[in-house]
Amino acid sequence: MALQEHNYWLTTAEPPATDSSRLLHDVVDVAVIGAGFTGLSAARTLAKRGAKVAVLESQAIGWGASSRNGGMVLTGLKLGVNKLISMYGREHTQRMYAASLATIDCVEQIVREESIECDFARCGHLEVACKQKHFDDYERQAEIIEVNFNHKLRVVPRSELSNEIGSAIYYGGMVDEISAGCNPARYVAGLARAAMKAGAEIFEHARVDLIERDSRQGESGWKISTSRGPIWAHEVFVGTSGYTGAATPALQKKIIPIGSFIITTEILPKALAQELSPRNRMIYDSKNYLYYYRLTPDRRMLFGGRAAFFPEDDQTVRRSADILRRGMVSVYPQLTDARVEYVWGGTLDFAFDIMPHAGQMDGMYYAIGYAGHGVAMATYQGLKIAELMAGDKPENPFVGIPFPGAPLGLYNGKPWFLPLAGAWYKVLDWVN
Ligand SMILES: Cc1cc2nc3c(=O)[nH]c(=O)nc-3n(C[C@H](O)[C@H](O)[C@H](O)COP(=O)(O)OP(=O)(O)OC[C@H]3O[C@@H](n4cnc5c(N)ncnc54)[C@H](O)[C@@H]3O)c2cc1C
Repeated sequence: MALQEHNYWLTTAEPPATDSSRLLHDVVDVAVIGAGFTGLSAARTLAKRGAKVAVLESQAIGWGASSRNGGMVLTGLKLGVNKLISMYGREHTQRMYAASLATIDCVEQIVREESIECDFARCGHLEVACKQKHFDDYERQAEIIEVNFNHKLRVVPRSELSNEIGSAIYYGGMVDEISAGCNPARYVAGLARAAMKAGAEIFEHARVDLIERDSRQGESGWKISTSRGPIWAHEVFVGTSGYTGAATPALQKKIIPIGSFIITTEILPKALAQELSPRNRMIYDSKNYLYYYRLTPDRRMLFGGRAAFFPEDDQTVRRSADILRRGMVSVYPQLTDARVEYVWGGTLDFAFDIMPHAGQMDGMYYAIGYAGHGVAMATYQGLKIAELMAGDKPENPFVGIPFPGAPLGLYNGKPWFLPLAGAWYKVLDWVN
């Protein structure tokens, strides 16, 4: 099969149908913007609590990062624990770490409760060290995490690494058995079905253009203008991630959209797949400009990375196919002759402090900033913020932490500095 510029996962999933001729409601309790993991998880929880919920999605269910990602359901946060402790103190970091483990249980529970067929499996993840000093740091990290967070990681020396990965280029690895893998397009389709079953309505091709404070019959709320007409909501929940735009300008200024790209090979022979990833781990390396990879359930090698920093378009996607193929062969020379069948890209949402953030901004609820760790965290934040909106006081250590903007306010939501940032990360990988 010739290379297709298309998301492989979409060939395996069937999102639920929605009625495109249906008019928007006049009034709802909550308008959720974005039909990805964040928005759909929130919509499901709110609708189960009896709220009248409309999910407004500018494209289609799961169109954003939620169907385009690597399907790695990961523990932990993007930043290392030492950095977290220096930013938030030990006690707050302990709460964050516990929450990051709970995010995976959250996905597992929803998958089970809603019988979502998305190949969810607790296969664990493997981080591999690109330099000796990265490996030396694994020992230190594992110890800190065990002592402070009561969570055990297994450090794998180079001499034993072949039990984990069929590549000889790394200096060792670190395994976390708690992480899982899934088929993200099937998962987001299942979440949409679950939200609809709970009573939420999803409106596709309903782009939100403007959100204004408004009052109606003495009650305060929001007048929302969409490409399918107006709707009025008591509350708004924003789950637009890397695709956040001008409809929520304050949030847009806090988020840097960064491209990430993926290729998948043809279906590999069983013995080769077993050699490449004997324990079927979710794998990523220790660089800033990192590669992440795994086998798909039908035994393709899925290989991703930040081949370009700009978000996906025809050019960045096409260029990424070659760059990622070279990267894949440098890790796995065994794949030199493997045909690459699919390439696609998507947009990640980075806050300036590389942390997830959730809560209220300008009176609207939001959850954002997953920095490539969003499969589990987005699901969890959608659920937790929905609980908050329903009047509970859920444990959520990411609410209320400082949410920094760009230094000197030099950012209007258009990331002019991405080529510089990309070059900077490459330099960091040489020197660190
Ligand atoms: C290539 C790639 C690989 C990744 N790999 C992993 C991984 O392996 N593991 C992991 O944990 N995370 C990974 N991530 C990150 C993860 O996919 C995201 O963090 C997560 O999907 C975010 O979900 P979300 O619902 O917040 O946003 P999205 O799924 O991006 O959904 C946002 C939605 O909002 C809609 N929207 C935006 N503006 C408007 C508007 N004005 N009106 C209406 N709708 C609007 C968009 O159309 C979009 O559908 C990856 C991301 C990418 C791009």
